[in-house]
Order: sequence, then C-alpha cells, then structure tokens
Amino acid sequence: MIECAREAEVLDAVTFRRWPRHCDEGCDEGLRTHVAACAICADLVEVARALHDDRESACRDARVPAAGQVWWRATIRARADAAHTAAEPITVLQGIAGACLVGAAAGRIGLKSPAVINAMSALFRIESSCVTSSDTRMPSNSSTS
Ligand SMILES: [Zn+2]
Repeated sequence: MIECAREAEVLDAVTFRRWPRHCDEGCDEGLRTHVAACAICADLVEVARALHDDRESACRDARVPAAGQVWWRATIRARADAAHTAAEPITVLQGIAGACLVGAAAGRIGLKSPAVINAMSALFRIESSCVTSSDTRMPSNSSTS
C-alpha cells in the first residue's frame, strides 16, 4: 500500500474546513504545493471533500423531530419492551403446556394401538417370567425404603 507522509495533514485541512479557501490561515503554503504535486494527496482531497460535502448536506437537510415527539416515542417503545419482557415467561409456559398436551395425546393414541398393546403385554410377560423363575414373591417397596 502506497502512503504519503502528509496525508493526515491534508485530511485535517479538509475535515476542519481549512481546504482550500482558509488554507492560508490553518496550513502552510507547502501543503498546497504538495497536494498539487502528489497524486495520492490530490485523490485524498477529492474523496474527503466529496464525503465532507455529503455529510454537510445531510446534516442541513435532516429534519429533527420535536422533543415532545421524541419523548412520546421513547415512552411507547419502553412500554412495548416492558410488555414483551413480561410476556416471555408466559410464552415459554404456553409452549411447555402445548408440548405436554401433544405428548399426552400421543401416549393415549399409542396405548390404544394394537402394536403398542402387543409390545406392552410381551414386555410384562417377560418381566413376570423373570420374577417367577427367581423368586416367587414380589419385592415390596415399603421394605426397601
Ligand atoms: Zn502527498
């Protein structure tokens, strides 16, 4: 990247409105002759002036709303944010309740299907055969706890 040692000086002159009219007050004559001779600084002046002029025209054309309108909008936004924050846990709980309902419905439908009934009965048959082969008595829960 090619740089010039006086780029910062030129940029300051353009940024603080010393270029080219007030350059006599704020910058030395050497800067003008340098910009006339240096292609990098000439490009910098062109781009910086375009950006600076664009910014000034944007600031001039900007329509600033009244203070009361800004306050009213901020109040409305704060209320909306507070309502959104308050509604977040409710939304989460509604989602959990919906998931529970779907799970209960799927379980109820699954218990009525023949495939699930066959699988459950086979599972209980295997379990009961294991219990009867090793021990004829069922272990009671009250003795273990
Ligand atoms: Zn230069």
